This record gives sequence, C-alpha cells and structure tokens, in this order.
Amino acid sequence: MEYVTDALVLRGVDYKDNDKILTLFSAERGKFTAGIRGVRKNGAKLRFSAEPFAFCEYVIAEKGARRTVTGATLHDGFYSLRTDIEKYYAACAIAEVCAIVLPEGLPGGRFFIDAVNAVKNVAYADEKLALVDFLLSALEFSGFRLDLSSCGNCGGEILPDQKAYFDFSSGRFSCETCRVGTRVSGCTLELLKARSGMAHEEELLTSDAPVRALRLLRTYFCGRTESDLPALGEYLKLLLGN
Ligand SMILES: [Zn+2]
Repeated sequence: MEYVTDALVLRGVDYKDNDKILTLFSAERGKFTAGIRGVRKNGAKLRFSAEPFAFCEYVIAEKGARRTVTGATLHDGFYSLRTDIEKYYAACAIAEVCAIVLPEGLPGGRFFIDAVNAVKNVAYADEKLALVDFLLSALEFSGFRLDLSSCGNCGGEILPDQKAYFDFSSGRFSCETCRVGTRVSGCTLELLKARSGMAHEEELLTSDAPVRALRLLRTYFCGRTESDLPALGEYLKLLLGN
C-alpha cells in the first residue's frame, strides 16, 4: 500500500550505512516511523526530506508493519534553524514535546497544525512566543489545559495589579487572598492570557515575561507528563547567557 501525507520530521536516526529511520508527525496518521534509503550518500535525491524539522509531502510505502519513504516534495526546510543556535534548540524543544504527548498512530488534527506553525514561527518570528503558544497547545492536547480565567480557589477575578499564585499540582492560578501554590509575577499571567487570546493588561507585558512564562510552563508540563525537556532547558540556559 502506498499513500501520501504531509508530515514534519521530529527525529532522524542513522541506520545501516546510508539509511535513516525518521520519526514523522502527520495530521492524518499522527506520529510514526519510516525508513528512508540512501539519504546519507552525497547528492542523495531525498536528502532534504530527512533533515530535522523538514516539512514535506511524503510518499510512504507500507508493507506489513514496515514503512518506507519513497518520495517527497518540500514545503519548507526551515534552514534558518541550522544557523541560529537559539532557534535550533527552540525547534528541538517542539520536537521533544511532540514525542512526549503524541501516542503512536493517533491522528494529530489541530495539534499537528499548531506544531507546524510553531516550527514556522520559531524559524521566522519570535521563538520565545512561538514556544509559549506551542506549550499552551500541547498542555491542552494532553488534557492539562491551564485555567487562566479566574482564581482556581474562590472563583474571583485575579486583578492584574495584585499578586498571583500558581499551583503546579492542579494547574490553577489563585488570587492574593487565597494564595495557593507558588508566587508568580503579574507579567507571567498577563502574557499567558495575551497568548490565549484573553483580555489582558498590555502595559504589564514586560520584556522578560515570555521567559518567565516559559519557565512556568516547562515546570508544569514536566510535572504533569512526568518527563524532562532537556532541549527546552538548554534553550532557557542560552537565553540566560545572553
Ligand atoms: Zn481566590
């Protein structure tokens, strides 16, 4: 059986002398692995389609449980990711999040579009905001959506000029009166609201807000999914070094 599907390369591992085994993410087929022959030879015709984060239309031949890439048309190779170390680690973070939240073979649907857009925005726009958006989407996809609308304890509004708290075990924010969890800066909550399309205080969005939000999202995501996000950790370290 042969089929055609748009997919993003999440990972490529060398196999035999010149082959690779790719982990691909497609809208219709979710996460799956496929071999690709001869792509490590110089001048290999399909080399572009086995590069990290390549977004292509793949022709897949399926025989029993084995899948092989037999053709590919490039949508975008996101080459800027290879010349910018911060963008590269940010893209690796997207791939590692996908690897954790996607069960084998479950269609990706809307989350697939969010992953492709995230890689695109990391490559061509602000990678910090791209990562915030993508982590919010990944949390929602995994059933751990953040409730940003009100205090998770009393249900009251968390006013932008008051202190806010976040409970990493429940994923809820709370107000200055309830104080459940760890203190978070007002800019973190306002940025998360802004990225979720909610009403927010624009003047509270300081330049360090995206990094603060990423740290909160990383800790919460890792706790909820019992995982580690080493590439995201490296990315945050790189930002601190600058
Ligand atoms: Zn409250």
